[in-house]
Amino acid sequence: MSEDKNAELQIILESAGIETQAIRAGQLRTELGSHGEPIFATSSFVFDTAAQAAARFAGDEPGNIYSRFSNPTVSSFEDKLAKMEGGEKCVATASGMAAILATALAFLQQGDHIVSSRSVFGTTNVLYDKYLQKFGVATTFVDLTDMKAWEAAIQDNTKYLFLETPSNPLCEIADIKALAELAHGHGCLLVVDNCFCTPALQRPLLLGADIIVHSATKYLDGQGRSIGGAVVGSEKLMAEVYGVLRTCGPTMSPFNAWIALKGLETLSLRMKAHSQSALVLAEWLQTQSEIEKVHYSGLKGNPGYALAVDQQTGFGGVLSFVVKGGRDAAWKFIDATRLISITANLGDVKSTITHPATTTHGRLSDDEKQRAGIEEGLLRVSVGLESVDDIRADLQRGLSAL
Ligand SMILES: *Cc1c(COP(=O)(O)O)cnc(C)c1O
Repeated sequence: MSEDKNAELQIILESAGIETQAIRAGQLRTELGSHGEPIFATSSFVFDTAAQAAARFAGDEPGNIYSRFSNPTVSSFEDKLAKMEGGEKCVATASGMAAILATALAFLQQGDHIVSSRSVFGTTNVLYDKYLQKFGVATTFVDLTDMKAWEAAIQDNTKYLFLETPSNPLCEIADIKALAELAHGHGCLLVVDNCFCTPALQRPLLLGADIIVHSATKYLDGQGRSIGGAVVGSEKLMAEVYGVLRTCGPTMSPFNAWIALKGLETLSLRMKAHSQSALVLAEWLQTQSEIEKVHYSGLKGNPGYALAVDQQTGFGGVLSFVVKGGRDAAWKFIDATRLISITANLGDVKSTITHPATTTHGRLSDDEKQRAGIEEGLLRVSVGLESVDDIRADLQRGLSAL
């Protein structure tokens, strides 16, 4: 595409719908004319002259040097996701954890402090509690929805607040706007892990958050094919994150970037379908006598319902519920399913089921589990894109075993 035409396309994309951005932002065309984005499977890039090499290294001339620094397929994924999140810049990473680590390395130093929601991805907890701690960074964990606790936990050395909304596995909703105001009032950043909603359902930067982290392993790919991650935010903040990535090395591979960028093209459609089926199943589960309660923010009685309607455009594909009879009943339920996969992964076209108390949250003490609402009878389902009738029939197999 000529430079003029491309410049006009970029202007169109600024105000285009997210479905259009997902398909048209970050298009990668080469002179060979391939319509689909090619995978640049190369570690390095050649220069015409010694002077050009020097200019690239000095940053005087744009262009690729080495794939730990940048790669066209990876840039294509980054440009697409940045647009979709409403951010200036995206930096792709090797995994979701690499995105969370790179953010920490970019903005924290010895003696600094984080306030984090207690109900974040389990490994994030371990990263903060065990590894950042080793380097003199302390974390205070608070209840996601307790604004007073967030405020009380902020110290002079707090650099950022960190959260996931909806939370996993209880689908609690945090008020992103209010937390952004709180963070900024104390000179802190707000970092949001946007895995569960994705930009198709929620755009935290537009609500005041400063940084988004993603595991591309989940809905962004959407078909369980690869591991990846990303950080999104302003040019200024992302320059810091990019520096960390380029130096420390957990960058995204071109192949994984290609998978993720192809995933993004269908993200909006998938998230709508995931959300639609999850709501049907949540409403149905609520009417079953073997079930004590259902956690899903799309249910009108859910404490997060009003906030979810306000800041999301859909409720997402993950729900959880408590069966009567504790662990025995929960395991019986899981073992009676045939269609749904027993795996802790989520955000896949395949429905998955897991027992948090003995898997993802198994390392918590009984006290901590109780505090986090991880009951022995709790089951989490990531609702996939199979026919909703077939998923319901499989859940019925679980219920019938009780
Ligand atoms: C999976 C997950 C992560 C970690 O991502 P990886 O790609 O597995 O490293 C972080 N946050 C959330 C909410 C997740 O679900």
